Amino acid sequence: MSGRTEALRQLADQSEPWDVLVIGGGATGLGAAVEAASRGYRTALVERFDFAKGTSSRSTKLVHGGVRYLEQLNITLVMDALRERGHMLRNAPHLVHNLQFVVPAYDYYSLPYYGLGLKVYERMSGRLSLGASKLLSRQRTTEMLPGIVDAGLRGGVLYHDGQFDDARYAISLLRTFQDLGGTAVNYVEAVGLLKRGGKTFGIQARDCEEDVRFDVQAKVVVNASGVFTEDVLAMDGVAAESLLAVSQGTHFVLPHSFLPGSTALMVPKTADGRVLFAIPWHGSTIVGTTDVPVPGPSAEPHSLAGEREFLAEHIARYFGRRPRGEEVLSMWSGLRPLVRKGGGKTSKLSRDHTILVSKSGLVTVTGGKWTTYRRMGEDAINHAAGVAGLEKLPSRTLDLKLHGWAENLGDMPESERVYGSDLPLLQSLPGDEEELNTPLHPRLPYRMREVVWAMRYEMARTVEDVLARRTRALFLDARAAMEAAPAVASLLTKELGRSDAWRDRDLQRFLDIAKEYVYVEG
Ligand SMILES: Cc1cc2nc3c(=O)[nH]c(=O)nc-3n(C[C@H](O)[C@H](O)[C@H](O)COP(=O)(O)OP(=O)(O)OC[C@H]3O[C@@H](n4cnc5c(N)ncnc54)[C@H](O)[C@@H]3O)c2cc1C
Repeated sequence: MSGRTEALRQLADQSEPWDVLVIGGGATGLGAAVEAASRGYRTALVERFDFAKGTSSRSTKLVHGGVRYLEQLNITLVMDALRERGHMLRNAPHLVHNLQFVVPAYDYYSLPYYGLGLKVYERMSGRLSLGASKLLSRQRTTEMLPGIVDAGLRGGVLYHDGQFDDARYAISLLRTFQDLGGTAVNYVEAVGLLKRGGKTFGIQARDCEEDVRFDVQAKVVVNASGVFTEDVLAMDGVAAESLLAVSQGTHFVLPHSFLPGSTALMVPKTADGRVLFAIPWHGSTIVGTTDVPVPGPSAEPHSLAGEREFLAEHIARYFGRRPRGEEVLSMWSGLRPLVRKGGGKTSKLSRDHTILVSKSGLVTVTGGKWTTYRRMGEDAINHAAGVAGLEKLPSRTLDLKLHGWAENLGDMPESERVYGSDLPLLQSLPGDEEELNTPLHPRLPYRMREVVWAMRYEMARTVEDVLARRTRALFLDARAAMEAAPAVASLLTKELGRSDAWRDRDLQRFLDIAKEYVYVEG
């Protein structure tokens, strides 16, 4: 029986209600699920697409306090996030690492201003500091950021923050949740809430693969559906159209040659007041992000012409030339669920999280950042335990090592490092050695072995799950991912016992999604 089939059977089992049922398998939902299961509550989670299909695979990949929020004087958010950053690094060293950032200064005022600000930022992290910040000479700045435009450069400021692989972190949370006895199923949607006497006691679920509906009972339901939060609140009869503002951010992925070396570039204020990063990631350079209000949520957001122009223009400003079409290896967009507080620009809206407990007892957790997912989960489950009358139990997640935790990973390639302590098992996967060792594509750091692993142990169900979130092929090189897709589709069809018609449909669905990650100039 496959992992998903068994999980589905457990989910649909009506013999006993779950203590906690979570809607949404992004950072927030998975964080809440791990929080609940680690306290000993019987917990289940449903995700209507794949784990981290939404915003949680589309971030800038920073585990950070947020220098910008410090400038906005949101001290509590920065302090909380810096503490979480330290613990994420300790609890998942295979997925999070310390990264050096340099802020280039093109005027004399920026050096003392950012020098002081970043010193305060460093001090705020206390004993969880990742390293000292310091002022750099002009020459040292260009050594650390080779390729950066040096006309008018005065110097720079070095500081440290965390970097991670967001979707792999989500998969590690999923595996941790399962290790703790939790049940999570992807491609299961909450389509309604079960109500008795005005109180929520579960969900009506739909298995999206088979289009079958069934009830799942629970003592409390947690709504962690990201930018879709208002849709779930509407199922509860709560009109909340004005709770969230949705803001889109887009990234370009460029070849490593744009920013050789291992230091990231941070621009604290672009001409229109945004923060922009260029960050080394899995052997490439991510540039982003934008911050554009959009009318509402969508499962597969697309970049806007204005965002692409903004990125190309800023790449030219800091690296001396616009990237050519084929140099943009991939581009992706994500949607921020920002809690609206009195309107204004989305870039100025708070990244704090919000918890709402509705009259029916539905607990909604939204807003926040990837970096604060654990804290959000802790808060949500404190409220949920109160609603459900569960035994009050302390949180254990601050020092909970995540699945794959491993020490002394050295400087192995990032594509292997993300498996942590699972790497030996992955490397000794039983099967046809020649097939398993076949590279996915000459430009991608993956082999067929990772595809099989993703299906057997990480609940990957589609070509997109494998190429977008179990491996990061789609995010690293969209054209290569499209070329690798037919072989992945065939392997998936064999492994999951699917038909040729299913293979063709799933492959086409992936190609339709992937073509939006390909940048076309003009
Ligand atoms: C461009 C961008 C860059 C960012 N960069 C960073 C960064 O560098 N660092 C950082 O800390 N934060 C960053 N963030 C913020 C961070 O990514 C988000 O705060 C976080 O991922 C939100 O997670 P979530 O679980 O709330 O939402 P999501 O990841 O969207 O998860 C919600 C899930 O709920 C599911 N769902 C919805 N409705 C239903 C239903 N009815 N039934 C079942 N499932 C349902 C969805 O399919 C989805 O998977 C960034 C955000 C954006 C947009």
